[in-house]
Amino acid sequence: MTAPETTTTVRGSCLCGKIQFEMNLAKENNCLCFCNSCRKITGSVGMANSWCKHEDLKFLTPPSLMSVYEDKSPDSGGTIHRGFCGTCGSTMISENRKLFPGHWIVPVGALEFDPLTTGWRPGQEFYCKRKMPWFQTPDDTVKYHELFQRDNGNA
Ligand SMILES: [Zn+2]
Ligand SMILES: [Zn+2]
Repeated sequence: MTAPETTTTVRGSCLCGKIQFEMNLAKENNCLCFCNSCRKITGSVGMANSWCKHEDLKFLTPPSLMSVYEDKSPDSGGTIHRGFCGTCGSTMISENRKLFPGHWIVPVGALEFDPLTTGWRPGQEFYCKRKMPWFQTPDDTVKYHELFQRDNGNA
């Protein structure tokens, strides 16, 4: 977790719009994760996330509208409280209270910006050992074999 230098405010929502929020997005706080839990929860090859401190995210709809699944299966151990929309099923805001206390983890697909013009780029990649070999990502990301653990063991 690096201290954000510059942040932009961006809105986010689920597919049906029942859950809406606004977050201060810092360029440094973007990652990709290919762990089993992130693949399962998205039904995809991995998950792209931004994170922020609790005070940098404001729910525009009551937070209680977000359903939460207690995911006790993450590769990293511990529990991730994974938010989702009970109406449309969109993956929403999650939280890892043990590893990242006081932070929200937000799926980039929920954010309302133009993918072609946004400056959003991942800085780190986690669980690269589960990344499909054909899935291309930028050369300049920090790639961890697991969570904060590099291939060479010199995390
Ligand atoms: Zn929804
Ligand atoms: Zn993950």
